[in-house]
Amino acid sequence: MHTVSKPHANILDTAVLQDVTDGNLRITPEQALRLYHEMPLPELGRWADARCRTLHGDHLRTYVIDRNINYTNVCTAKCTFCAFRRDGHEDDAYTLSYDALKQKVKEIVEIGGTQILMQGGMNPELPLSWYVELLEQLRSEFPTVHIHAFSPPEIIEFINFFNTPGSYLEEQIRFVLTELQNAGLQSIPGGGGEIFAPAVREKIGLGKCTAEVWLLVMRVAHELGMNTSATMMFGHLEGIADRIHHMDLVRSWQDQSIQDFSLDGGGRYVSFIAWPFQPDNTPLGRIPEMTTNDVFPGDIVAKLDGTGHKSMHKDFGRRLRLAGSSSYLRTQALSRLYLDNIYSIGSSWVTMGPAIGQTALMYGANDLGSVMLEENVVSAAGTTWCLDEAKLCRMIREAGFTPAKRDNTYNLLTIHTGDDAPDRRIKDWSVLNKNKLVVHTEDCNNVPLTLSK
Ligand code: SF4
Repeated sequence: MHTVSKPHANILDTAVLQDVTDGNLRITPEQALRLYHEMPLPELGRWADARCRTLHGDHLRTYVIDRNINYTNVCTAKCTFCAFRRDGHEDDAYTLSYDALKQKVKEIVEIGGTQILMQGGMNPELPLSWYVELLEQLRSEFPTVHIHAFSPPEIIEFINFFNTPGSYLEEQIRFVLTELQNAGLQSIPGGGGEIFAPAVREKIGLGKCTAEVWLLVMRVAHELGMNTSATMMFGHLEGIADRIHHMDLVRSWQDQSIQDFSLDGGGRYVSFIAWPFQPDNTPLGRIPEMTTNDVFPGDIVAKLDGTGHKSMHKDFGRRLRLAGSSSYLRTQALSRLYLDNIYSIGSSWVTMGPAIGQTALMYGANDLGSVMLEENVVSAAGTTWCLDEAKLCRMIREAGFTPAKRDNTYNLLTIHTGDDAPDRRIKDWSVLNKNKLVVHTEDCNNVPLTLSK
């Protein structure tokens, strides 16, 4: 664990940054804010890349083959950034049957997939026994598939809806997670993190758990031996200091989990991925964007310790600042340098598109995430990039690395050095996707998938 920090050191100094990339120095929130605002983007990227190379070497960059399954879109929350949720009575509300869910898992197994990421809305009609039985059936029928499922807000709603045993919240969380773990749940995705600062969270995550509760769910998961991911959705109402405060909470709770549980086989955050808010079809997306001359209200309200209050600026919550590619790359690079106790930083090609997703491999990301066989949440908000395994491998190779397929815990399954690599087996890319590396389609299910050896 990195505990040394030098709050008075000049973080723009090369020797200081060299200590950071070597893992000998921890950046303070104030230094992170300075880096974000003052360091030119290519330079910040080079330092993030150096830190990534310290941890992951110069050669391999990874991806996983999993399937994103959204089992229900019925949700009692009303997050203003969400285009996916439905009330139970709406015509296009759905909950997938066990058979439909199993069919989806079968399909990902058939193309060499190793895990499913299963998340949904907070559906009050589904009792905890529905999830337990689902997990038991999936575990029994697909024993090799890693089940990565149910983000903290879903876990909290299981507790709220069903009178869960336990006299205080942590005990109830432990009860639910133990039930799910015994039924087959193996790790927890970081959905619902958004931005932790209360002033922002209260505006965007209506009906969703607080940051402290989100972090508590993950802590109990770590105690029970499960690994988790952490996420951040930015580029809406928040100030830059809010992004740093968010990363700071992840970093300090990770310190605590490592300290308290690692000697007893505990889990931890193994990855962090930040993605920009996708505005289409969302209530939040209807808020006007700031102009380039504006001082952004979110920056006035944001405080590095999370104590900002909406009353600090009259227009807070009334102006958006969407993240473009430079803001995205800057934020990701900073996360690599700041989160010195998290192994993997993921590129978000699903939201940024493959070109920026590939560039992100030079800005601190070591992992491209998954092929996209199906995605329903960001695609509901207007973003529908789809890539298969060959294209993911090609992106990694053209960025100067060797692609490697991994599992959920970042064990390497296949290192694609040979002529039989998924990308090298493609003789004619024009046949695969009409002369384009990128497929931009409304329906990811139509994208041809290549088989993995
Ligand atoms: S983001 Fe998740 S919790 Fe929020 S409304 Fe959408 S489905 Fe519900």
